[in-house]
Amino acid sequence: MTPEREIYLKMVSRGENKYYLVFDIGGTNTKCGLFNSSGDLVSANESSTPQSYDELVGFIINKCAEYKTNQVSIGLPGTVNYGDGKIIYAPNLTYLSGKRIVSDLSNEKIVACIENDANLAALGEYYFSDIKYDSIVLVTLGTGVGGGYIVNGNVYKGQLSVFEIGHMTIHTDGKQCGCGKRGCFEAYCSKTGLENIYYDLSNNRVSINEILKLIDKKDSLAGVAMNVFSKYLGIGLSNIVNLLIPDVIVIGGGLSELSSYYFKNTIKVFSKNLFNPYKNSTRLIVSKLKNKAALYGGFYLLRQNNGQI
Ligand SMILES: [Zn+2]
Repeated sequence: MTPEREIYLKMVSRGENKYYLVFDIGGTNTKCGLFNSSGDLVSANESSTPQSYDELVGFIINKCAEYKTNQVSIGLPGTVNYGDGKIIYAPNLTYLSGKRIVSDLSNEKIVACIENDANLAALGEYYFSDIKYDSIVLVTLGTGVGGGYIVNGNVYKGQLSVFEIGHMTIHTDGKQCGCGKRGCFEAYCSKTGLENIYYDLSNNRVSINEILKLIDKKDSLAGVAMNVFSKYLGIGLSNIVNLLIPDVIVIGGGLSELSSYYFKNTIKVFSKNLFNPYKNSTRLIVSKLKNKAALYGGFYLLRQNNGQI
């Protein structure tokens, strides 16, 4: 029996059978969270993201059957069209591009709401951490780089999901990005970005965990790679302030947990590149919800869509 199933059965035995199923589909891993009606994340698990669209849909259908629910919230690493529910583009999970997961799940009698994963993470930080600000920007550093902008409690959006900051150009003719452009923020400040920076310096293809071990051993090239990463991160974050002056920028995603390796230099570069009148206007912090922020945001979206908020 899976841990969530065990918790679910205990909830049912206590008469607390109101629960919510939330998915956070990433480029590498997919998280599935179970919330009770009080907003407690009673269980969360993580597994490799299914390898095809049909497998992904099957995965969601099976989880719905397991928990006897037909309402889910789904966070996706892509651009969403809110009008027709189509996923326009997902550079780090290409099989999602052009798909209409809401209507495909609807054919299976599942009511799904979808949102860009970084927007959900921003909603999660806004409503479930101790942040008390009017405007926040959440930047997720993971397989790619995503962003969400919350103003007065709402996701800033248009017909499409917006704030694709991972693809703002940060280096003219710079490194190749998965989106087809060169020099994107994501090409430097993501997991693969850091691995590519190290590869270009050393001609040695290693994982991010190996790079961290090398830094711990005072390897100079690995240290230079992290320095480049932290510099571009500081520049990218200062660009956001110069455009929007949010009250706070929260760094989230898997790489936020490695902030001890880069945060000091990032703050230094960030502060130096702020437009003069905006200095001291925006706080830069690391997420407290860490990689569960998008699950909390998904729970909020589901309750909102159900008219419960
Ligand atoms: Zn790009």
